[in-house]
Amino acid sequence: MSRKPELLGLDSDERSDALTAALAGWGEPSFRVRQIEEWVFAHRARDFAEMTNLPQALRERLDEAFSLTPLEAVYVARSEDGTIKHLWALDDGERVESVLIPTRERLTLCISSQAGCALGCRFCATGDFGFRRQLRAAEIVAQYRDSWRVAKEELGRSVSNVVFMGMGEPLANLDAVIRSLTVLHSDFGLGARRITVSTVGLVPGIRELARRPEQFELAVSLHAPAHDLRLELMPIEKRYPLPELFDALRQYQAKKNRRISLEYTLIDGVNDDPGLASVLADQVYGLTCFVNLIPFNPIPSRPEWRASPGRRIKEFSARLTERGVANAVRTPRGRDIAAACGQLRLAEEADAPA
Ligand code: SF4
Repeated sequence: MSRKPELLGLDSDERSDALTAALAGWGEPSFRVRQIEEWVFAHRARDFAEMTNLPQALRERLDEAFSLTPLEAVYVARSEDGTIKHLWALDDGERVESVLIPTRERLTLCISSQAGCALGCRFCATGDFGFRRQLRAAEIVAQYRDSWRVAKEELGRSVSNVVFMGMGEPLANLDAVIRSLTVLHSDFGLGARRITVSTVGLVPGIRELARRPEQFELAVSLHAPAHDLRLELMPIEKRYPLPELFDALRQYQAKKNRRISLEYTLIDGVNDDPGLASVLADQVYGLTCFVNLIPFNPIPSRPEWRASPGRRIKEFSARLTERGVANAVRTPRGRDIAAACGQLRLAEEADAPA
C-alpha cells in the first residue's frame, strides 16, 4: 500500500527536507516549514485544516502530499480512578491500545509499539492473540499526540511521562521505536528521563539502547528470577536466558549510570514464594534497581490464576527489603476498565460476531 509521507515518523532533517522541497515546488516561502512544525509539535494538530494561519490552498496541498496519521478512537473506557483507556483503529483496521494514568504529580501515558505480540508471555492478554504487525513510528507517536489532546480537553493537563508498556515488545520493533523516541524527545520536547522503554528482556535491544546518547529510562518485566519458572512464564528465556539479560543490564547501567526498574507481577502460588524474592535479590546483586511488585490482573485465558493475596505480597516485599533491594507494591490502575495491556482488544474480539 503506497502511503503519503507521515510527518510524525520523520526525523527533523527528513521532515525539513520533505517540507522544504514540497513548499518550493508550490512556490511557497520557506518560513512555512517553521509554521507547519509549530502546528504539528506545539499545537499537536492532527489535521492540516487546523493550521489556520496557512492559506486554505496550501492546507489542501499539504493534505494531499503528507499525512498527520490521525488515529480513530473506536472505544474509550474511563475508570473510576481517572484512568482513561483508548482502543485506536489504525489505517488498515488493526487495533492498539493506550492508557492515560493520572496521579497527583504526573500524567503518564502507556503506549503500544506493536499490534499484537509474538512473544507469548503466559500472563499477558496481548500475547494471547499473537503478532499482527509492527507499528510504524508515526503510529506510535500519534498515540501520544491524540492522547495528549484528550488529556488537555478532559483533564486540563498535559501528558508528563510516556511508557512503552502497552501492546507489543518495543525492542522487537527497534527501528520504529528508536525513531519514535527521537520524535517524542527532540520534537515534542519530552525529557528523556520522562520516557521509559519497557522490555521483557530482548538483549540486543538493551545493548542498542545503551549505545544511544539520550538517558531514556529502562524497565524490565522480569516476573521470574529463576530459569525454569521464567521459561514456563516467558518463552523469551529460551532466547535470552537470565545470565545474558543481567549481563546486558549491568552493561547498560555502567554506560548510563541510571537506576533500572524491574517489574514483577505476583501470581498466587505461581511466582510469589518469598524464597523467590531471595533468588531475585541474588540476581540483582550489584545492580542499582527498583522492583515494582504488581498484583496480577486476571485475564480470561488463565481463569485459574489470581493475584497473590495481600499477606503474601507483603512477605515478598519484606524479603526483598531485608536483602537491601528497593521495592514498592503498586496498585493496578483501571481494573474496572480492563486496563492491563491487550485486555480491551481481547474484549472487543470476544464481542465480535464469529
Ligand atoms: S508481556 Fe509484553 S512481550 Fe509478553 S506477550 Fe505481552 S506484550 Fe508481548
